[in-house]
Amino acid sequence: MQACLASAWSLSPPVLMTLLVCFGVILLAHWVTRQRDFPGRDSFILLHLASLWWMAAAALEMSFFAAECKMFWASMAWPGIVSTPTFWAVFLWQYVNSMRTPLARSSILGLSLVPLLVWALALSNPWHGLFYGAGSAPIDASPGAPVRYQHGPLFYATAVYVYLFMAFCMGVVTRAAALSQGLHRRHYLAFVLVTAVPWVANVGYVVFGWTLFGFDPTPFSFAFTLGAFSWLIVGVRLFDLLPVARHLLLEALLDQVLVVDPRGRVIEANPAALKLAGLQQGWQGRELGDWPVFGADLQQLLDEQAGADPSLPLTLTSAARYYEVRVRAIERATRHGPVLLGHMLYVRDVTQRQLSELKLAEALALSEERLRTISSLHEQLREQALCDPLTGLYNRRYLDEFFARELSRAQREQVPLAVALIDLDHFKRLNDECGHLVGDDVLKSVAQHLLDNLRSTDAVFRIGGEEFLLILPGLDAAAATSRMESLRAQLAQIGQPTRIGALPVTLSAGIALWPDHGEGLDGLLQAADVALYTAKRNGRNRVQLAATG
Ligand code: GH3
Ligand code: MG
Ligand code: MG
Repeated sequence: MQACLASAWSLSPPVLMTLLVCFGVILLAHWVTRQRDFPGRDSFILLHLASLWWMAAAALEMSFFAAECKMFWASMAWPGIVSTPTFWAVFLWQYVNSMRTPLARSSILGLSLVPLLVWALALSNPWHGLFYGAGSAPIDASPGAPVRYQHGPLFYATAVYVYLFMAFCMGVVTRAAALSQGLHRRHYLAFVLVTAVPWVANVGYVVFGWTLFGFDPTPFSFAFTLGAFSWLIVGVRLFDLLPVARHLLLEALLDQVLVVDPRGRVIEANPAALKLAGLQQGWQGRELGDWPVFGADLQQLLDEQAGADPSLPLTLTSAARYYEVRVRAIERATRHGPVLLGHMLYVRDVTQRQLSELKLAEALALSEERLRTISSLHEQLREQALCDPLTGLYNRRYLDEFFARELSRAQREQVPLAVALIDLDHFKRLNDECGHLVGDDVLKSVAQHLLDNLRSTDAVFRIGGEEFLLILPGLDAAAATSRMESLRAQLAQIGQPTRIGALPVTLSAGIALWPDHGEGLDGLLQAADVALYTAKRNGRNRVQLAATG
Protein backbone atom coordinates (compact mmCIF):
# COMPACT_ATOMS: atom_id res chain seq x y z
CA MET A 1 0.00 0.00 0.00
CA GLN A 2 2.89 2.33 0.77
CA ALA A 3 4.28 1.61 -2.66
CA CYS A 4 0.90 2.13 -4.11
CA LEU A 5 0.51 5.57 -2.56
CA ALA A 6 3.89 6.51 -3.99
CA SER A 7 2.89 5.38 -7.48
CA ALA A 8 1.57 7.62 -10.20
CA TRP A 9 -2.00 8.87 -10.24
CA SER A 10 -3.98 11.49 -12.06
CA LEU A 11 -7.20 13.37 -11.61
CA SER A 12 -8.66 12.45 -14.99
CA PRO A 13 -12.11 13.81 -15.95
CA PRO A 14 -13.80 10.48 -15.01
CA VAL A 15 -12.18 10.69 -11.56
CA LEU A 16 -13.29 14.27 -11.16
CA MET A 17 -16.80 13.29 -12.23
CA THR A 18 -16.86 10.49 -9.67
CA LEU A 19 -15.63 12.82 -6.93
CA LEU A 20 -18.33 15.28 -7.96
CA VAL A 21 -20.96 12.56 -7.60
CA CYS A 22 -19.43 11.73 -4.17
CA PHE A 23 -19.75 15.35 -3.19
CA GLY A 24 -23.34 15.33 -4.40
CA VAL A 25 -24.08 12.29 -2.22
CA ILE A 26 -22.54 14.05 0.80
CA LEU A 27 -24.74 17.10 0.20
CA LEU A 28 -27.75 14.82 -0.27
CA ALA A 29 -27.04 12.99 3.01
CA HIS A 30 -26.66 16.32 4.80
CA TRP A 31 -29.93 17.56 3.34
CA VAL A 32 -31.75 14.36 4.34
CA THR A 33 -30.52 14.63 7.94
CA ARG A 34 -32.02 18.11 8.13
CA GLN A 35 -35.45 17.07 6.85
CA ARG A 36 -38.44 15.98 8.88
CA ASP A 37 -38.28 12.45 10.16
CA PHE A 38 -39.52 9.61 7.98
CA PRO A 39 -39.55 5.85 8.56
CA GLY A 40 -36.15 4.21 8.05
CA ARG A 41 -34.27 7.50 7.91
CA ASP A 42 -31.24 6.13 9.82
CA SER A 43 -30.80 3.23 7.40
CA PHE A 44 -31.30 5.67 4.51
CA ILE A 45 -28.39 7.75 5.77
CA LEU A 46 -26.22 4.65 6.33
CA LEU A 47 -27.06 3.75 2.75
CA HIS A 48 -25.65 7.09 1.61
CA LEU A 49 -22.47 6.45 3.57
CA ALA A 50 -22.06 2.96 2.11
CA SER A 51 -22.49 4.13 -1.45
CA LEU A 52 -20.19 7.09 -0.77
CA TRP A 53 -17.51 4.66 0.41
CA TRP A 54 -18.01 2.57 -2.71
CA MET A 55 -17.70 5.54 -5.07
CA ALA A 56 -14.75 7.06 -3.25
CA ALA A 57 -12.90 3.73 -3.60
CA ALA A 58 -13.93 3.61 -7.26
CA ALA A 59 -12.56 7.13 -7.79
CA LEU A 60 -9.25 6.12 -6.18
CA GLU A 61 -9.16 2.93 -8.27
CA MET A 62 -9.58 5.04 -11.39
CA SER A 63 -7.02 7.66 -10.41
CA PHE A 64 -4.09 5.32 -9.71
CA PHE A 65 -2.13 3.98 -12.65
CA ALA A 66 -0.54 0.80 -11.27
CA ALA A 67 -2.68 -2.34 -11.61
CA GLU A 68 -1.81 -3.42 -8.01
CA CYS A 69 -3.04 -0.08 -6.76
CA LYS A 70 -6.23 -0.39 -8.70
CA MET A 71 -6.74 -3.86 -7.25
CA PHE A 72 -6.06 -2.55 -3.76
CA TRP A 73 -8.72 0.16 -4.10
CA ALA A 74 -11.07 -2.32 -5.73
CA SER A 75 -10.69 -4.45 -2.58
CA MET A 76 -11.19 -1.37 -0.40
CA ALA A 77 -14.56 -0.77 -2.10
CA TRP A 78 -16.11 -4.03 -0.81
CA PRO A 79 -17.49 -2.88 2.56
CA GLY A 80 -19.37 -0.17 0.61
CA ILE A 81 -20.47 -2.59 -2.12
CA VAL A 82 -21.90 -5.15 0.33
CA SER A 83 -23.35 -2.59 2.77
CA THR A 84 -25.25 -0.73 0.05
CA PRO A 85 -27.82 -3.45 -0.76
CA THR A 86 -27.85 -4.51 2.90
CA PHE A 87 -28.96 -1.13 4.21
CA TRP A 88 -31.06 -0.61 1.13
CA ALA A 89 -33.07 -3.66 2.10
CA VAL A 90 -33.33 -2.56 5.73
CA PHE A 91 -34.41 0.94 4.74
CA LEU A 92 -37.10 -0.25 2.31
CA TRP A 93 -38.43 -2.71 4.86
CA GLN A 94 -38.69 0.00 7.52
CA TYR A 95 -40.13 2.54 5.14
CA VAL A 96 -42.78 0.31 3.67
CA ASN A 97 -43.80 -0.89 7.13
CA SER A 98 -43.69 2.62 8.62
CA MET A 99 -41.20 1.57 11.31
CA ARG A 100 -39.93 4.71 12.99
CA THR A 101 -37.82 3.19 15.77
CA PRO A 102 -34.12 3.76 15.00
CA LEU A 103 -31.95 0.74 14.21
CA ALA A 104 -30.36 -0.76 17.32
CA ARG A 105 -26.58 -0.52 17.44
CA SER A 106 -26.37 -4.31 17.72
CA SER A 107 -28.39 -4.69 14.53
CA ILE A 108 -26.09 -2.28 12.67
CA LEU A 109 -23.10 -4.25 13.93
CA GLY A 110 -24.70 -7.56 12.95
CA LEU A 111 -25.52 -6.28 9.47
CA SER A 112 -21.94 -4.98 9.09
CA LEU A 113 -20.35 -8.35 9.85
CA VAL A 114 -20.53 -9.76 6.32
CA PRO A 115 -19.34 -6.51 4.68
CA LEU A 116 -16.35 -6.48 7.07
CA LEU A 117 -15.62 -10.16 6.41
CA VAL A 118 -15.77 -9.63 2.66
CA TRP A 119 -13.47 -6.65 3.07
CA ALA A 120 -10.94 -8.74 4.95
CA LEU A 121 -11.16 -11.50 2.32
CA ALA A 122 -10.70 -9.01 -0.53
CA LEU A 123 -7.72 -7.34 1.14
CA SER A 124 -6.09 -10.70 1.80
CA ASN A 125 -6.53 -11.71 -1.86
CA PRO A 126 -2.75 -11.46 -2.62
CA TRP A 127 -2.28 -14.40 -0.22
CA HIS A 128 -5.13 -16.69 -1.29
CA GLY A 129 -6.20 -15.45 -4.74
CA LEU A 130 -9.73 -16.63 -4.14
CA PHE A 131 -11.33 -13.28 -4.79
CA TYR A 132 -9.53 -12.11 -7.89
CA GLY A 133 -7.67 -14.68 -9.96
CA ALA A 134 -4.08 -14.41 -11.17
CA GLY A 135 -5.37 -13.51 -14.63
CA SER A 136 -6.63 -10.09 -13.48
CA ALA A 137 -4.78 -7.52 -15.62
CA PRO A 138 -5.16 -4.14 -17.32
CA ILE A 139 -7.19 -4.27 -20.49
CA ASP A 140 -4.36 -2.71 -22.50
CA ALA A 141 -0.92 -1.25 -22.10
CA SER A 142 -2.00 2.42 -21.87
CA PRO A 143 -1.08 4.13 -18.56
CA GLY A 144 -3.84 3.78 -15.98
CA ALA A 145 -5.87 1.43 -18.16
CA PRO A 146 -8.74 -0.19 -16.23
CA VAL A 147 -8.15 -3.70 -14.86
CA ARG A 148 -10.20 -6.58 -16.18
CA TYR A 149 -10.74 -8.84 -13.22
CA GLN A 150 -10.71 -12.58 -13.22
CA HIS A 151 -13.24 -13.43 -10.56
CA GLY A 152 -12.62 -16.17 -8.00
CA PRO A 153 -15.12 -18.25 -5.97
CA LEU A 154 -15.20 -15.81 -3.03
CA PHE A 155 -16.22 -13.03 -5.42
CA TYR A 156 -19.14 -15.11 -6.71
CA ALA A 157 -20.19 -16.10 -3.19
CA THR A 158 -20.25 -12.38 -2.29
CA ALA A 159 -22.14 -11.56 -5.49
CA VAL A 160 -24.82 -14.14 -4.57
CA TYR A 161 -25.11 -12.57 -1.09
CA VAL A 162 -25.48 -9.10 -2.58
CA TYR A 163 -27.99 -10.23 -5.21
CA LEU A 164 -30.07 -11.86 -2.51
CA PHE A 165 -30.43 -8.49 -0.78
CA MET A 166 -31.16 -6.77 -4.07
CA ALA A 167 -33.86 -9.36 -4.81
CA PHE A 168 -35.28 -8.80 -1.34
CA CYS A 169 -35.45 -5.04 -2.02
CA MET A 170 -37.27 -5.65 -5.26
CA GLY A 171 -39.65 -8.02 -3.49
CA VAL A 172 -40.46 -5.52 -0.73
CA VAL A 173 -41.33 -2.64 -3.05
CA THR A 174 -43.19 -4.85 -5.55
CA ARG A 175 -45.30 -6.29 -2.74
CA ALA A 176 -46.00 -2.82 -1.35
CA ALA A 177 -47.08 -1.65 -4.81
CA ALA A 178 -49.32 -4.71 -5.22
CA LEU A 179 -50.96 -4.28 -1.82
CA SER A 180 -51.58 -0.54 -2.00
CA GLN A 181 -54.09 1.40 -4.06
CA GLY A 182 -54.52 4.63 -5.96
CA LEU A 183 -52.04 7.34 -5.19
CA HIS A 184 -50.10 5.05 -2.90
CA ARG A 185 -49.69 2.40 -5.57
CA ARG A 186 -48.44 4.88 -8.16
CA HIS A 187 -45.72 5.99 -5.79
CA TYR A 188 -44.64 2.49 -4.86
CA LEU A 189 -44.47 1.68 -8.56
CA ALA A 190 -42.06 4.61 -8.87
CA PHE A 191 -40.08 2.95 -6.05
CA VAL A 192 -39.97 -0.29 -8.06
CA LEU A 193 -38.67 1.58 -11.12
CA VAL A 194 -36.00 3.41 -9.17
CA THR A 195 -34.93 0.18 -7.44
CA ALA A 196 -34.62 -1.47 -10.84
CA VAL A 197 -32.01 1.05 -12.05
CA PRO A 198 -29.01 -0.52 -10.21
CA TRP A 199 -30.12 -3.96 -11.40
CA VAL A 200 -30.14 -2.81 -15.01
CA ALA A 201 -26.75 -1.11 -14.59
CA ASN A 202 -25.25 -4.19 -12.97
CA VAL A 203 -26.67 -6.67 -15.48
CA GLY A 204 -25.55 -4.32 -18.29
CA TYR A 205 -22.03 -4.28 -16.86
CA VAL A 206 -21.78 -8.03 -16.18
CA VAL A 207 -23.54 -9.33 -19.30
CA PHE A 208 -23.01 -6.61 -21.93
CA GLY A 209 -19.87 -5.00 -20.56
CA TRP A 210 -21.46 -1.53 -20.17
CA THR A 211 -19.10 0.88 -18.47
CA LEU A 212 -19.14 4.46 -17.30
CA PHE A 213 -15.73 6.18 -17.50
CA GLY A 214 -14.43 2.65 -18.28
CA PHE A 215 -15.84 1.56 -14.97
CA ASP A 216 -18.70 -0.49 -13.48
CA PRO A 217 -21.78 1.82 -13.72
CA THR A 218 -23.50 0.22 -10.68
CA PRO A 219 -22.19 2.63 -8.00
CA PHE A 220 -23.20 5.60 -10.18
CA SER A 221 -26.65 4.11 -10.67
CA PHE A 222 -26.92 3.81 -6.90
CA ALA A 223 -26.07 7.47 -6.59
CA PHE A 224 -28.84 8.29 -9.06
CA THR A 225 -31.26 6.04 -7.17
CA LEU A 226 -30.38 7.68 -3.88
CA GLY A 227 -31.13 11.09 -5.35
CA ALA A 228 -34.42 9.89 -6.81
CA PHE A 229 -35.50 8.32 -3.52
CA SER A 230 -34.57 11.40 -1.54
CA TRP A 231 -36.58 13.53 -3.89
CA LEU A 232 -39.57 11.20 -3.71
CA ILE A 233 -39.49 10.83 0.06
CA VAL A 234 -38.37 14.16 1.38
CA GLY A 235 -38.82 16.55 -1.49
CA VAL A 236 -42.20 15.55 -2.84
CA ARG A 237 -43.29 13.81 0.36
CA LEU A 238 -45.64 11.67 -1.67
CA PHE A 239 -44.62 8.62 0.30
CA ASP A 240 -45.06 10.19 3.61
CA LEU A 241 -47.73 8.24 5.38
CA LEU A 242 -49.29 11.22 7.10
CA PRO A 243 -50.11 13.44 4.12
CA VAL A 244 -51.41 10.44 2.21
CA ALA A 245 -53.52 9.37 5.16
CA ARG A 246 -54.82 12.91 5.59
CA HIS A 247 -55.64 13.13 1.94
CA LEU A 248 -57.50 9.80 2.06
CA LEU A 249 -59.34 10.96 5.18
CA LEU A 250 -60.44 14.13 3.46
CA GLU A 251 -61.61 12.10 0.47
CA ALA A 252 -63.58 9.70 2.62
CA LEU A 253 -65.07 12.34 4.91
CA LEU A 254 -68.86 12.66 4.70
CA ASP A 255 -68.62 16.26 5.95
CA GLN A 256 -67.80 19.06 3.55
CA VAL A 257 -64.38 20.66 3.72
CA LEU A 258 -63.37 23.74 1.75
CA VAL A 259 -60.18 25.76 1.78
CA VAL A 260 -60.57 29.38 0.75
CA ASP A 261 -57.73 31.80 0.09
CA PRO A 262 -57.74 35.35 1.49
CA ARG A 263 -59.34 36.60 -1.73
CA GLY A 264 -62.31 34.29 -1.18
CA ARG A 265 -61.43 31.76 -3.89
CA VAL A 266 -61.85 28.05 -3.19
CA ILE A 267 -58.55 26.28 -3.64
CA GLU A 268 -59.47 22.93 -2.15
CA ALA A 269 -62.74 21.06 -1.77
CA ASN A 270 -63.31 17.47 -0.79
CA PRO A 271 -65.69 15.18 -2.75
CA ALA A 272 -68.47 15.72 -0.18
CA ALA A 273 -68.34 19.49 -0.75
CA LEU A 274 -68.30 19.04 -4.53
CA LYS A 275 -71.26 16.67 -4.30
CA LEU A 276 -73.30 19.13 -2.23
CA ALA A 277 -72.54 21.91 -4.70
CA GLY A 278 -73.17 19.61 -7.66
CA LEU A 279 -69.79 20.48 -9.16
CA GLN A 280 -67.33 18.14 -10.82
CA GLN A 281 -64.66 20.17 -12.51
CA GLY A 282 -63.53 23.70 -13.16
CA TRP A 283 -64.20 24.63 -9.56
CA GLN A 284 -60.66 25.34 -8.50
CA GLY A 285 -60.13 29.06 -8.03
CA ARG A 286 -63.85 29.84 -8.30
CA GLU A 287 -65.05 32.43 -5.79
CA LEU A 288 -66.79 30.90 -2.79
CA GLY A 289 -69.75 33.28 -3.18
CA ASP A 290 -70.37 31.88 -6.69
CA TRP A 291 -70.53 28.27 -5.55
CA PRO A 292 -73.97 26.78 -6.11
CA VAL A 293 -76.26 25.77 -3.23
CA PHE A 294 -74.21 27.07 -0.27
CA GLY A 295 -71.63 29.53 -1.65
CA ALA A 296 -73.42 32.80 -0.89
CA ASP A 297 -74.47 31.70 2.62
CA LEU A 298 -70.99 30.45 3.48
CA GLN A 299 -69.38 33.62 2.18
CA GLN A 300 -71.74 35.65 4.37
CA LEU A 301 -70.84 33.54 7.41
CA LEU A 302 -67.17 33.99 6.62
CA ASP A 303 -67.61 37.76 6.38
CA GLU A 304 -69.50 37.89 9.67
CA GLN A 305 -67.27 35.72 11.82
CA ALA A 306 -64.66 37.76 13.64
CA GLY A 307 -61.58 35.60 13.88
CA ALA A 308 -62.97 33.27 16.54
CA ASP A 309 -63.58 29.58 16.00
CA PRO A 310 -67.26 29.33 16.73
CA SER A 311 -69.64 26.79 15.42
CA LEU A 312 -71.95 28.72 13.14
CA PRO A 313 -75.40 27.49 12.16
CA LEU A 314 -76.20 27.41 8.45
CA THR A 315 -79.68 26.69 7.15
CA LEU A 316 -79.98 25.91 3.48
CA THR A 317 -83.62 26.51 2.75
CA SER A 318 -83.10 25.42 -0.86
CA ALA A 319 -81.92 22.00 0.30
CA ALA A 320 -84.16 21.92 3.41
CA ARG A 321 -81.18 20.94 5.47
CA TYR A 322 -79.32 22.30 8.48
CA TYR A 323 -75.56 22.57 8.79
CA GLU A 324 -73.01 23.55 11.35
CA VAL A 325 -69.98 25.40 10.03
CA ARG A 326 -66.58 25.69 11.66
CA VAL A 327 -64.21 28.30 10.33
CA ARG A 328 -60.50 27.97 10.99
CA ALA A 329 -58.07 30.64 9.96
CA ILE A 330 -54.93 29.20 8.37
CA GLU A 331 -51.99 31.32 9.41
CA ARG A 332 -48.24 31.24 9.05
CA ALA A 333 -46.15 32.58 11.88
CA THR A 334 -43.58 35.10 10.73
CA ARG A 335 -41.23 37.42 12.49
CA HIS A 336 -43.72 40.25 11.98
CA GLY A 337 -46.65 38.28 13.38
CA PRO A 338 -49.05 35.81 11.80
CA VAL A 339 -49.88 36.08 8.11
CA LEU A 340 -53.32 34.91 6.99
CA LEU A 341 -53.06 32.26 4.30
CA GLY A 342 -56.76 31.52 4.08
CA HIS A 343 -59.60 29.77 5.84
CA MET A 344 -60.68 26.21 6.19
CA LEU A 345 -64.43 25.69 6.33
CA TYR A 346 -65.69 22.51 7.88
CA VAL A 347 -69.38 21.99 7.17
CA ARG A 348 -71.30 19.31 9.03
CA ASP A 349 -74.82 18.19 8.18
CA VAL A 350 -76.82 18.37 11.43
CA THR A 351 -80.26 18.02 9.87
CA GLN A 352 -81.09 14.91 11.85
CA ARG A 353 -80.04 16.51 15.12
CA GLN A 354 -81.83 19.73 14.30
CA LEU A 355 -85.05 17.92 13.40
CA SER A 356 -84.86 15.89 16.60
CA GLU A 357 -84.32 19.09 18.58
CA LEU A 358 -87.28 20.74 16.87
CA LYS A 359 -89.46 17.69 17.55
CA LEU A 360 -88.35 17.67 21.14
CA ALA A 361 -89.12 21.37 21.52
CA GLU A 362 -92.54 20.80 19.97
CA ALA A 363 -93.22 17.90 22.31
CA LEU A 364 -92.06 20.00 25.23
CA ALA A 365 -94.31 22.91 24.25
CA LEU A 366 -97.23 20.50 23.86
CA SER A 367 -96.70 18.95 27.25
CA GLU A 368 -96.30 22.40 28.82
CA GLU A 369 -99.58 23.43 27.21
CA ARG A 370 -101.23 20.28 28.57
CA LEU A 371 -99.80 20.95 31.97
CA ARG A 372 -101.24 24.45 31.89
CA THR A 373 -104.66 23.05 30.90
CA ILE A 374 -104.49 20.49 33.67
CA SER A 375 -103.50 23.14 36.22
CA SER A 376 -106.31 25.43 35.16
CA LEU A 377 -108.81 22.54 35.24
CA HIS A 378 -107.50 21.66 38.63
CA GLU A 379 -107.97 25.26 39.72
CA GLN A 380 -111.50 25.29 38.31
CA LEU A 381 -112.31 22.03 40.08
CA ARG A 382 -111.05 23.41 43.33
CA GLU A 383 -113.09 26.59 42.83
CA GLN A 384 -116.13 24.50 42.05
CA ALA A 385 -115.58 22.35 45.08
CA LEU A 386 -115.24 25.39 47.32
CA CYS A 387 -117.93 27.59 45.78
CA ASP A 388 -121.67 27.50 45.90
CA PRO A 389 -123.04 27.10 42.36
CA LEU A 390 -126.12 29.30 42.91
CA THR A 391 -124.54 32.43 44.39
CA GLY A 392 -120.86 31.93 43.55
CA LEU A 393 -120.00 32.51 47.21
CA TYR A 394 -117.61 30.27 49.11
CA ASN A 395 -119.30 27.31 50.75
CA ARG A 396 -118.71 25.62 54.08
CA ARG A 397 -115.88 23.53 52.72
CA TYR A 398 -113.66 26.57 52.39
CA LEU A 399 -114.80 28.12 55.66
CA ASP A 400 -112.61 26.01 57.96
CA GLU A 401 -109.47 26.70 55.92
CA PHE A 402 -110.14 30.44 55.63
CA PHE A 403 -111.09 30.87 59.28
CA ALA A 404 -108.00 28.99 60.52
CA ARG A 405 -105.80 31.33 58.51
CA GLU A 406 -107.54 34.46 59.72
CA LEU A 407 -107.55 33.26 63.31
CA SER A 408 -103.80 32.63 63.36
CA ARG A 409 -103.24 36.03 61.77
CA ALA A 410 -105.44 37.69 64.42
CA GLN A 411 -103.51 35.85 67.16
CA ARG A 412 -100.19 36.81 65.66
CA GLU A 413 -101.06 40.47 65.09
CA GLN A 414 -103.20 40.83 68.22
CA VAL A 415 -106.18 42.23 66.30
CA PRO A 416 -109.87 41.41 66.81
CA LEU A 417 -111.81 39.10 64.48
CA ALA A 418 -115.58 39.32 64.02
CA VAL A 419 -118.02 36.86 62.50
CA ALA A 420 -121.60 37.74 61.50
CA LEU A 421 -124.25 35.09 60.91
CA ILE A 422 -126.99 36.34 58.55
CA ASP A 423 -130.43 34.78 57.98
CA LEU A 424 -133.06 36.22 55.60
CA ASP A 425 -136.35 37.03 57.22
CA HIS A 426 -139.49 35.06 56.34
CA PHE A 427 -137.83 33.43 53.40
CA LYS A 428 -140.05 30.45 53.59
CA ARG A 429 -142.99 32.70 53.04
CA LEU A 430 -141.35 34.36 50.03
CA ASN A 431 -140.69 30.95 48.53
CA ASP A 432 -144.21 29.93 49.12
CA GLU A 433 -145.73 33.09 47.68
CA CYS A 434 -143.45 33.70 44.71
CA GLY A 435 -141.98 30.33 43.99
CA HIS A 436 -138.64 28.69 44.53
CA LEU A 437 -137.01 30.22 41.47
CA VAL A 438 -137.82 33.71 42.63
CA GLY A 439 -136.38 32.69 46.02
CA ASP A 440 -133.19 31.70 44.20
CA ASP A 441 -133.10 35.10 42.48
CA VAL A 442 -133.34 36.77 45.86
CA LEU A 443 -130.50 34.61 47.19
CA LYS A 444 -128.33 35.66 44.26
CA SER A 445 -129.02 39.37 44.61
CA VAL A 446 -128.50 39.32 48.37
CA ALA A 447 -125.18 37.51 47.79
CA GLN A 448 -124.19 40.22 45.32
CA HIS A 449 -125.21 42.91 47.82
CA LEU A 450 -122.96 41.30 50.44
CA LEU A 451 -120.03 40.98 48.00
CA ASP A 452 -120.39 44.59 46.92
CA ASN A 453 -119.99 45.75 50.48
CA LEU A 454 -116.96 43.65 51.44
CA ARG A 455 -113.47 44.96 52.11
CA SER A 456 -110.63 43.08 50.46
CA THR A 457 -109.83 41.34 53.75
CA ASP A 458 -113.41 40.17 54.38
CA ALA A 459 -115.01 36.97 53.13
CA VAL A 460 -118.61 35.84 52.79
CA PHE A 461 -119.82 32.23 52.82
CA ARG A 462 -123.17 30.64 52.08
CA ILE A 463 -123.44 28.13 54.88
CA GLY A 464 -127.09 27.11 54.65
CA GLY A 465 -130.26 27.63 52.54
CA GLU A 466 -130.61 31.38 53.12
CA GLU A 467 -127.92 31.70 55.76
CA PHE A 468 -124.63 33.52 55.18
CA LEU A 469 -121.56 33.99 57.30
CA LEU A 470 -119.33 37.04 57.09
CA ILE A 471 -115.80 36.96 58.46
CA LEU A 472 -114.57 40.44 59.24
CA PRO A 473 -110.89 40.48 60.29
CA GLY A 474 -109.69 43.43 62.37
CA LEU A 475 -113.16 44.69 63.37
CA ASP A 476 -114.05 45.11 67.03
CA ALA A 477 -117.60 44.93 68.39
CA ALA A 478 -118.51 48.51 67.57
CA ALA A 479 -117.03 48.47 64.05
CA ALA A 480 -118.57 45.09 63.26
CA THR A 481 -121.98 46.18 64.53
CA SER A 482 -121.87 49.39 62.54
CA ARG A 483 -120.80 47.53 59.34
CA MET A 484 -123.60 45.00 59.73
CA GLU A 485 -126.10 47.68 60.61
CA SER A 486 -125.32 49.59 57.40
CA LEU A 487 -125.50 46.35 55.35
CA ARG A 488 -128.89 45.57 56.85
CA ALA A 489 -130.22 49.08 56.37
CA GLN A 490 -129.11 49.26 52.74
CA LEU A 491 -130.70 45.89 51.98
CA ALA A 492 -133.95 46.91 53.60
CA GLN A 493 -134.01 50.19 51.72
CA ILE A 494 -134.01 48.86 48.16
CA GLY A 495 -135.96 45.96 46.72
CA GLN A 496 -133.98 42.97 45.43
CA PRO A 497 -134.21 42.38 41.70
CA THR A 498 -135.88 39.05 40.73
CA ARG A 499 -137.48 37.65 37.60
CA ILE A 500 -140.83 39.06 38.70
CA GLY A 501 -139.47 42.46 39.67
CA ALA A 502 -137.86 43.95 42.77
CA LEU A 503 -138.96 42.41 46.03
CA PRO A 504 -138.42 43.75 49.54
CA VAL A 505 -136.05 41.56 51.54
CA THR A 506 -134.69 42.03 55.04
CA LEU A 507 -132.09 40.20 57.05
CA SER A 508 -131.30 39.54 60.65
CA ALA A 509 -127.72 39.10 61.86
CA GLY A 510 -125.96 37.85 64.96
CA ILE A 511 -122.37 39.05 65.58
CA ALA A 512 -119.74 37.24 67.67
CA LEU A 513 -116.14 38.34 68.32
CA TRP A 514 -112.93 36.47 68.88
CA PRO A 515 -111.81 36.01 71.59
CA ASP A 516 -114.68 37.48 73.63
CA HIS A 517 -117.43 35.09 72.46
CA GLY A 518 -115.46 32.00 71.55
CA GLU A 519 -111.95 30.60 71.04
CA GLY A 520 -112.67 28.77 67.78
CA LEU A 521 -115.11 28.69 64.87
CA ASP A 522 -117.63 26.41 66.57
CA GLY A 523 -117.83 28.58 69.68
CA LEU A 524 -118.15 31.78 67.65
CA LEU A 525 -120.83 30.26 65.37
CA GLN A 526 -122.79 29.13 68.36
CA ALA A 527 -122.60 32.58 70.00
CA ALA A 528 -123.55 34.27 66.70
CA ASP A 529 -126.46 31.83 66.28
CA VAL A 530 -127.77 32.69 69.73
CA ALA A 531 -127.49 36.42 68.92
CA LEU A 532 -129.27 35.82 65.58
CA TYR A 533 -132.03 34.00 67.35
CA THR A 534 -132.36 37.01 69.68
CA ALA A 535 -132.58 39.33 66.66
CA LYS A 536 -135.33 37.20 65.14
CA ARG A 537 -137.16 37.10 68.40
CA ASN A 538 -136.91 40.83 68.77
CA GLY A 539 -138.77 41.39 65.54
CA ARG A 540 -136.31 40.58 62.70
CA ASN A 541 -134.58 43.11 60.34
CA ARG A 542 -132.04 43.86 62.99
CA VAL A 543 -128.42 43.20 64.07
CA GLN A 544 -127.56 41.70 67.43
CA LEU A 545 -124.15 41.46 69.12
CA ALA A 546 -123.57 38.29 71.09
CA ALA A 547 -123.78 38.68 74.82
CA THR A 548 -120.49 38.42 76.72
CA GLY A 549 -119.97 35.95 79.52
P1 GH3 B 1 -137.21 33.32 59.71
O1 GH3 B 1 -137.48 34.73 59.48
O2 GH3 B 1 -137.55 32.83 61.04
O3 GH3 B 1 -135.85 32.93 59.31
O4 GH3 B 1 -138.22 32.58 58.76
P2 GH3 B 1 -137.94 31.75 57.52
O5 GH3 B 1 -139.10 31.48 56.76
O6 GH3 B 1 -136.82 32.39 56.76
O7 GH3 B 1 -137.44 30.43 58.19
P3 GH3 B 1 -136.22 29.58 57.89
O8 GH3 B 1 -135.00 30.45 57.95
O9 GH3 B 1 -136.20 28.39 58.76
O10 GH3 B 1 -136.52 29.14 56.44
C1 GH3 B 1 -135.58 28.62 55.49
C2 GH3 B 1 -136.25 28.45 54.23
O11 GH3 B 1 -135.41 28.75 53.15
C3 GH3 B 1 -136.70 27.03 54.04
C4 GH3 B 1 -136.57 26.80 52.55
O12 GH3 B 1 -137.83 26.76 51.91
C5 GH3 B 1 -135.85 27.99 52.07
N1 GH3 B 1 -134.73 27.60 51.32
C6 GH3 B 1 -133.66 26.94 51.78
N2 GH3 B 1 -132.73 26.77 50.75
C7 GH3 B 1 -133.27 27.37 49.64
C8 GH3 B 1 -132.83 27.56 48.30
O13 GH3 B 1 -131.74 27.15 47.91
N3 GH3 B 1 -133.70 28.23 47.44
C9 GH3 B 1 -134.89 28.70 47.82
N4 GH3 B 1 -135.66 29.33 46.95
N5 GH3 B 1 -135.31 28.54 49.10
C10 GH3 B 1 -134.54 27.89 50.00
MG1 MG C 1 -132.82 29.99 57.95
MG1 MG D 1 -134.87 32.76 57.49
